[in-house]
Amino acid sequence: MNISHRISEIIGTGSDGWDHFRRARAMKNAGQPVVELTIGEHDTRTDPVILAAMYEAAKAGHTGYASIPGIPALRAAIAERITRESGVPTGPDNVMVTAGGQSALFAAHHAACDEGDRALFIDPYYATYPGTIRAVGAVPVAILAHAEDGFQPRAADIAAVAAGAKSLMINTPNNPTGVIYSRNTLEGIAKVCKDNNLWLISDEVYDTQVWAGAHLSPRTLPGMAERTFTIGSMSKSHAMTGCRIGWICGPADTIGPMTDLATHTNYGIPGFIQDAALFALSLGPDFERSIGAPFNRRRAISLEILAQQNVVRYAPLDGAMYTMLDIRATAMTGEAFAAALLDEEMIAVMPGESFGQAAGGHIRVAMTVADEQYADALRRLIDFAARKARTAD
Ligand code: PLP
Repeated sequence: MNISHRISEIIGTGSDGWDHFRRARAMKNAGQPVVELTIGEHDTRTDPVILAAMYEAAKAGHTGYASIPGIPALRAAIAERITRESGVPTGPDNVMVTAGGQSALFAAHHAACDEGDRALFIDPYYATYPGTIRAVGAVPVAILAHAEDGFQPRAADIAAVAAGAKSLMINTPNNPTGVIYSRNTLEGIAKVCKDNNLWLISDEVYDTQVWAGAHLSPRTLPGMAERTFTIGSMSKSHAMTGCRIGWICGPADTIGPMTDLATHTNYGIPGFIQDAALFALSLGPDFERSIGAPFNRRRAISLEILAQQNVVRYAPLDGAMYTMLDIRATAMTGEAFAAALLDEEMIAVMPGESFGQAAGGHIRVAMTVADEQYADALRRLIDFAARKARTAD
């Protein structure tokens, strides 16, 4: 029997860069001392106080079907948080609770695009973006943000392909680059969206990991609230990746239809997880800062080590949990560099090419091991790059 093109073609052709991750895991499982700087997951687990709240909720009987768009108290808490942080009045009717940010990205594209519609996104991108667009039957169109622009996308490049498209997906603070989009960039993007009647799908799952400058949610810009879906998640802000809990925020009249979608996919998020998320949000910004603190410390380590060399260049380390390094001085691709680094130094990183064309010749280093181990791995990585650059001369 055949399966549909829609799902057999979710993943594009060619290497997805996850080969390095899988190979590194296999080596580690076989007992080799691999330092894994690959996936964006904290090196700490979900805090026991959140787990205790989850257990209490389950014991209290919140194990049945839960309200599909989310329990009212959680929708209200998310809406309050968005109002507080963005200043845009937001109510529970603007919010649907989802199975992580990923499920919200899927719902947003389902809401924005019909079969065959063009959906724009910025390259470098988070690995699932093109597949998420294909999964709803739309056609992904990548717009390159260039290293020489500090990976800030140019509004003119978006405008050049915007006519007739339905949506534009952006991500700030950005994975994989760690860049935060400036007000100027976001105002340019907002204008293109308004001029071309595009939905803006704004992935803000790293909004608590801002190390320099400020995060601006584009929903706050004039005329944008009615055409923006904001994607949030407790994965990165609260180290709750395995709980699969996040949200989509959009115009109130979109939440009902998206709830219909949720009814026919997840049928809601477990009540005890939602109660735990509600408790986690009640811990406030100090708790969120404590979850992000290790990445802020390791960013400082990165900056200190990188300042002492001139082999690799780096994107502004303004946010998120990644250091994006330009290794073109070695004359290697990101793929070749990552493969050799794993073989020769037992350090696993992601090749830039796995995040699109614009990140070719780069590697993404996830700052997800203990500080001293991170510093040691980064120093070894730079020595390795220096050796490769010398043989390239
Ligand atoms: N968006 C970005 C930019 C990400 O980096 C990730 C995960 O790494 C996600 C969305 C999805 O995260 P989750 O579904 O765990 O919320």
